Order: sequence, then structure tokens, then C-alpha cells
Amino acid sequence: MRYKVLVAALSFSKSSSKPRQMLESAGCELIWNTLGRPFSEEELVKIVPDVDAIIVGVDPITGRVLEAGRQIKIVAKHGVGLDNIDVDTATKLGIAVTNTPGANDDAVADLTVGFLLAVARQIPVADVATKSGNWPRLIGTQVWGKTLGLVGLGRIGRGVAYRAKGFNMRILAYDPYVDVSVARYLGVELVSFNELLSESDFVSIHVPLTEETRLLFDEEVLKKLKRGAYLINTSRGEILDSVALKRALEEGHIAGAAVDVYWEEPPKDLAWLNTPGLITTPHIGAYTREANEKMGLMVAECVIKVLRGEKAPYQVN
Ligand code: NAD
Repeated sequence: MRYKVLVAALSFSKSSSKPRQMLESAGCELIWNTLGRPFSEEELVKIVPDVDAIIVGVDPITGRVLEAGRQIKIVAKHGVGLDNIDVDTATKLGIAVTNTPGANDDAVADLTVGFLLAVARQIPVADVATKSGNWPRLIGTQVWGKTLGLVGLGRIGRGVAYRAKGFNMRILAYDPYVDVSVARYLGVELVSFNELLSESDFVSIHVPLTEETRLLFDEEVLKKLKRGAYLINTSRGEILDSVALKRALEEGHIAGAAVDVYWEEPPKDLAWLNTPGLITTPHIGAYTREANEKMGLMVAECVIKVLRGEKAPYQVN
């Protein structure tokens, strides 16, 4: 029997053909997203009525989309964050929702360390200046021996902690849900949110987007950061008040920031993106060849299992 699988995620099977081949060999007909951007809710509602499975990136899988997809058996997230999927409605409709835990944490942790060094030494500014024929004496900040505050000590937060040990950093973490033994094993001090904000030279955000974390970093919280601290966000745009961040950078309260994620993707506010001291990347946290292949294979395995009537290995509902 042939199954129709909508591949909304633009990066699915991008670095390796194995995930695509796995699905095709299992009798799946793949319908690719050729728009070069995520689908809108309206577009999805029109496409989904005859599809059996959706492989999704950041496209909005709302209740409306799920109700329009009368044949959908699985929504497979090509990634970890489930904030763009209405998991409750999927559960009510008997649709399996899966993700790819552990596939991209090393990729995001690597990017975070890249950001740490890039903000501290203004590497992108230096690059542009040198290529423009300038020779500025940019004085940076040393990372070695400084204090790093991790908000969220899950898979990515832990990956960053491992790496930061190599920079002889004191590592603090705020995560009310993590087991103390995990922090102890990593040599990380679990502290209150306020302690983390006031003591860290670098703060890096690694929490999922939930009702509790939406705008966790608002204007008031940004003011509690140490003067001259650096802020990194590779989690989700909505966790950070972008207007307050711009103000904090312009006022010099924050020395620099780096973000991979935005309220709207791609972001359209070029003036905001060009705030001095802000480094930006286009949501590339998970984009390494290794992570891409791993995510693709996990997604393909989940889709095939569910379409065959079996339980998927990474089902979240
Ligand atoms: P994870 O589930 O392993 O860890 C999240 C941690 O956050 C958990 O330990 C949890 O206890 C903690 N947490 C939850 N609510 C909290 C709160 N209110 N305050 C403090 N801590 C809280 O997830 P992960 O794999 O580490 O990923 C974290 C997030 O990173 C994902 O949810 C996703 O949104 C984002 N992400 C981004 C990219 C990217 O491309 N930039 C790629 C992968 C994941």
C-alpha cells in the first residue's frame, strides 16, 4: 500500500539521502515543500486532507490543520521543540506526535560555544571590518575562567556545560525540574534564577517554549543581568523580549547578545537585526550534517512504524 507523506520540513534528508530512501522503500510517496519557507496554516489546511503523515519543521500544525487532515496518522517533528504542534488536539484525534530527542543537542551546543566566543571577541564585527580594509583595535572579553549561567539543564544545556568545562568556566544553572545528581555529576551549581542573573558573565537559554517560559526574559529580567553580561538564545524567540533586548544593548547594560531564533522566522525587522552588539544566525542550531542525518533517520523510523500500525519509538503523546 502506498502512503502519502507530506515533507514540510525544509531540511529533511538534506545532508543524506538515507532517510528519504528509507521512506520510499517502505512504500511512501513524498510530497516535498518547494516553497523554500515553512507552510502557513492556510496552505497546510488545503494540502493535508489526503496525506497519511506529516514531517514537520517549524510549520504551524494547529488544531485546524489536524482536523482538516482526516487521514493523518502521525506528525513527526524533524527536531525537538513541539511548540508549533497542537499535541492535545493530535492526541484527541488519535494522531501520534513524535520528535527526535538527542539528535541535535551536540549541534546546538557547538553553536552555543561558537556564540560564546563570537560575542566575547566580536568576531563578526572584526571580520566585516578587516574585509572592508579597516584595522580596528577591538578589545574583547576573555571567556576562560568566567561564569556561565545556563537556563535549562536538559540535553543541550548539559552539552554546553561539558564544553564550557574546557574553558575553565564556573557553571551555574537554573532548572527547577532537573535532578540534583545530574548537576553534581557535571560539576554545575544549581542556583535560583535571580542568583544566575546577577552572577553570570554569560547567560545562555536552553529551555523549551511553554506558557511558563514565554517571555521569561522580559525587560525586568534583562535589567537583573550583571552590567556588561552577554546573552545567548538558541532556544525559541518568544522566550526573549526582543524590544527590551535591543534597548539593553543600546544602553550598554548588556555588552553583547547572540540569537539563532526569532518571534517570526524569517524575521523582517532589519533595524532590529542590525542592533550593534547583536549577532544573528538563521535558526541553524541543528544544521550539521551529522544532526541532519540522525534526525532524518529517527523521523523515517517513526513514520514507517506508525504507518504499519506499530508504536513509534519517540512518541510524545
Ligand atoms: P530538553 O527537554 O532536554 O531540556 C530542556 C530543559 O529545560 C529541561 O531540563 C527542563 O527541566 C528545563 N526547563 C523547563 N522549563 C523550565 C523553566 N521554566 N525554567 C528553567 N528550566 C526549565 O530540551 P533540549 O534538547 O535541551 O532543547 C531545549 C530547547 O532548545 C528545545 O525545546 C528547543 O526549543 C530548542 N532547540 C533549538 C534548536 C535550534 O535550532 N536553535 C535546536 C534544538 C532545540
